[in-house]
Amino acid sequence: MVESMRDMDVADMANMFRERFDRLIGERFFFTAEDPYEDLLRRTEAVLEGHFVLSSGLHSSHYVQCARTLQHPKYAESLGGCVADTYRDYEVDAVISPAVGGLIIGHETARSLGVRAMFGERDKGSMILRRGFALQEGERVVIVEDVITTGGSVRDLIRLVRDLGATVVGVGAILDRSGGQVNLDVPMNPLFTKRMPTYPPDSCPLCQQGSSPVKPGSRQ
Ligand SMILES: [Zn+2]
Repeated sequence: MVESMRDMDVADMANMFRERFDRLIGERFFFTAEDPYEDLLRRTEAVLEGHFVLSSGLHSSHYVQCARTLQHPKYAESLGGCVADTYRDYEVDAVISPAVGGLIIGHETARSLGVRAMFGERDKGSMILRRGFALQEGERVVIVEDVITTGGSVRDLIRLVRDLGATVVGVGAILDRSGGQVNLDVPMNPLFTKRMPTYPPDSCPLCQQGSSPVKPGSRQ
């Protein structure tokens, strides 16, 4: 199923997404861009341009604030359903997301799969499960993030899930903004992939032009 989803061409994916929108929202959602997911993010002003510090510490001229899209529950539900489609035949027991960015899309993916939605949090740099969240040995988990840039949080969650004796079936995301550069040892199925360049702070061309980066993250 994962393979066949990968083999679906962009037009098929777009049609599936449009049908889901028609059904959920009861209105024709008119897409202009070739990729309906990117189009939705842009229409809801989630794609910001400027000079940013990402949560990884890297600088970039683009920041994708999925919260702007996901503040609309119908869009969140629809996107979560699309992330879930890839994993529907995989007997998933739970979805786990990194806090805070992955919470809403992870919850909507879990709702669509009919499984538990949990999240990992950072504690002194380590990713941990709190709030009484637990995994049984052998449970099958999908990790869901909003945007994957370096894959750092996702990698930490994969390690955490395996340490608890559970299995990571795969990773879902709205966007892989590395353009496919991130390499995980499990299947990764973002709704769309786009290369948005990042720079180490000491070789950032935007800094060299004299501008100061802002850190949007969860603060603004
Ligand atoms: Zn910079």
